Amino acid sequence: MMTIAFDHSYARDLPGTYLRVPPDPAPAPRLLILNRSLAGDLGLALSDADARDWFSGASLPPGAEPIAQAYAGHQFGGFSPQLGDGRAHLLGEVLSPDGRRFDIQLKGSGRTPFSRGGDGKAAVGPMLREYLISEFMAGMAVPTTRSLAVVATGEEVWRETKLPGAVLARVAASHLRVGTFQFFAARGDKANVKALADYAIARHYPDLAGAEQPYLAFLDAVIAGQAKLVAQWMGLGFIHGVMNTDNMAISGETIDYGPCAFMEAYAPGTVFSSIDHQGRYAYQNQPLILGWNLARLAETLIPLLDPDPDRAVDLANERLTGIAARYRTEWTRVMRHKLGLLGEDAEDATLADDLLSTMVGADWTLTFRRLADPAALRPLFDDFRGMEAWLPRWQARAGEGAAVRIAAANPSVIPRNHQVEEALSAATEGDMTQFHSLLAAIRAPFTEAEPYMLPAPTGFGRYVTFCGT
Ligand code: AMP
Ligand code: MG
Repeated sequence: MMTIAFDHSYARDLPGTYLRVPPDPAPAPRLLILNRSLAGDLGLALSDADARDWFSGASLPPGAEPIAQAYAGHQFGGFSPQLGDGRAHLLGEVLSPDGRRFDIQLKGSGRTPFSRGGDGKAAVGPMLREYLISEFMAGMAVPTTRSLAVVATGEEVWRETKLPGAVLARVAASHLRVGTFQFFAARGDKANVKALADYAIARHYPDLAGAEQPYLAFLDAVIAGQAKLVAQWMGLGFIHGVMNTDNMAISGETIDYGPCAFMEAYAPGTVFSSIDHQGRYAYQNQPLILGWNLARLAETLIPLLDPDPDRAVDLANERLTGIAARYRTEWTRVMRHKLGLLGEDAEDATLADDLLSTMVGADWTLTFRRLADPAALRPLFDDFRGMEAWLPRWQARAGEGAAVRIAAANPSVIPRNHQVEEALSAATEGDMTQFHSLLAAIRAPFTEAEPYMLPAPTGFGRYVTFCGT
């Protein structure tokens, strides 16, 4: 039998921030997919039988010490002082051969004291969805949690209807969230806020430990990572869907793939989630929510920033005021890459803004992909006049070799909603063929592969995602 060399730094260093609770044993586990390349990167030699049993809760891998982590969070703007892992179990951490530390967590593995009304379970469709989309993000070099395996449990779970249950094994740089800090700050537990900050610095930003003001440097580092992350999302047309503070990772990774989806026709107000009635987490609002969430993190750190509370608030505000400009810089960098621009020109952001205002209604992904080929670009637009004016400006700025850079920077294949839905409903019925084909296509996103690169057929209608994941 293989083993996993687990460590438990979180449990060891942060007593009082979690509860020990075992996952539910899956009655009849069946391995749906195992990410062998990720397992290899982590230095894990896993047999299918080990993966099936260990990542479904059917049996615990030797050395695992399962815990449910406490966290709070602002959900759609309202504060919930106690969320926590209601259906997840952290088995422990592993050190990859290149010396990086990763959490291995089960999701959908049963109730915990944090479950509130929930059943602690997950269904096959949403867990495979997380697997697929996180693989695409990783392939596009967007920081993200990864998916190691999905195991069908042999149980039925009730959502709108009866569905086959599944557990996802998730790999993350850590599961520290903005909401983890909020949990302790809300209780006035300054010692644990400090312990968490020290732990986060040691784990994610070890260079900052010696900084003159380590907690301020920590806030800066989280701001920098998140600004970069959201700029990358925007470049791909990715809409997270639930940017609650409990779903924002301190590591700068994309976390908690729920009702997320990729925008097809460009519309800044695009929302997919059925419960996001106000459009709080719409595409264009993501950069604003970034700042809002980071303000919530900053609030928790105030007591650590300076012994003088007024001075601490000033320091935090200074940082928060800088987020918009920092995001704009990151976004401009992403857009330069997408537009195949070399070097930097003061007008680049305006060039990108002007493209966006003229491409409303056109397919986000294919417009960038086809920029250098006007004959292929034209059919994406109802009215091409705006582009006819914009293209010569872009050509003049982009210059030689732009077509090659465009093709290298912009995917032709993204996880298109109608393709994802088809693959997931087949998988829910027990047929993984389509899922594997789609996964292969999104793993080679720069290869032109019909039908995966085509927008939804007109009959597909408005796409709605559900939180009952
Ligand atoms: P999410 O919206 O998935 O980020 O989850 C928000 C909170 O609800 C977290 O505390 C989750 O652990 C909890 N939660 C979500 N789904 C379930 C479920 N089926 N059972 C128990 N808790 C859940
Ligand atoms: Mg969550």
